[in-house]
Amino acid sequence: MSDWFEDGLRFSCTQCGNCCTGPPGAVWFNDAEGRAMAKKLDISVEDFYKHFARKLGAKWSLTENVIAGKYDCVFLDRSTDKPGCSLYEARPSQCRTWPFWTENLKSKAAWERAKKETPCPGMDTGKLIPISEIRIQRDGSGPS
Ligand code: SF4
Repeated sequence: MSDWFEDGLRFSCTQCGNCCTGPPGAVWFNDAEGRAMAKKLDISVEDFYKHFARKLGAKWSLTENVIAGKYDCVFLDRSTDKPGCSLYEARPSQCRTWPFWTENLKSKAAWERAKKETPCPGMDTGKLIPISEIRIQRDGSGPS
């Protein structure tokens, strides 16, 4: 069966930061990603987990800061005009693969819903991402 996005999807991030905030959520990461983030922050892995992580069930998520009723990822930097990730190069795969998450690709309606609810102005604009690349990102996007 062919995927609804077989002709590819357009996506170019405008770096608005919307996907790093919103309702309460989880930013999953695995051990290797935790170590990479600790290294980027130049702190010990122990301190990283103590200050920036929380365990939800059996998995680890980054913590959030509640700002004006919105739940910002703890690493969303709002100190400049353009909000952005303060450890961008070390961000976990969940962040790297947005918006090509399994749940967003389930159907065209799911894609449209994610675009509207985030809202993500980068979806359906700019560069055409081929289905082969979308599948790679989707398959690497799941909670670690
Ligand atoms: S919401 Fe979309 S356009 Fe905005 S930062 Fe996230 S991926 Fe980029």
